Amino acid sequence: MDVAAYATLLPEITPGNQPFWDGCAAGELRLQQCTSCGRHRFPDAPVCPQCLSSSASWEAVSGTGTIWSWCTMHQKYFAAFADEVPYQLVYVQLTEGPLVISVLADGQGEPRLDQPVRAVFRPSAAGRIVPQFVGTGEGTR
Ligand SMILES: [Zn+2]
Repeated sequence: MDVAAYATLLPEITPGNQPFWDGCAAGELRLQQCTSCGRHRFPDAPVCPQCLSSSASWEAVSGTGTIWSWCTMHQKYFAAFADEVPYQLVYVQLTEGPLVISVLADGQGEPRLDQPVRAVFRPSAAGRIVPQFVGTGEGTR
């Protein structure tokens, strides 16, 4: 398939995820939080996976977490996700609990297991502001 065809592969903005993208544009990570049990969830969903409540609010969260796993991408499959190769696709376990998939920001080097990170907000190749992660505190390279 044509790699260029994926240039705008970012998720469609819907009424359900609009608060997440508005948060990114404002420089903060926002997640749905169940108003019944308090659990944060990502991605957005109509019901809580913990207690099945359909009642939720959007809250700004810390943007901090630790690297749960990663993969170094040497091929530029999706132009919307990176300007340069190689780049590190990371699974970050947020302090609030959910796992998010993102990338390490440029110049962060090789990730390591349980590395503390925080979200930063950068324009993607497609122009939309997306969360990326940088190392923080102990273990920052
Ligand atoms: Zn719940």
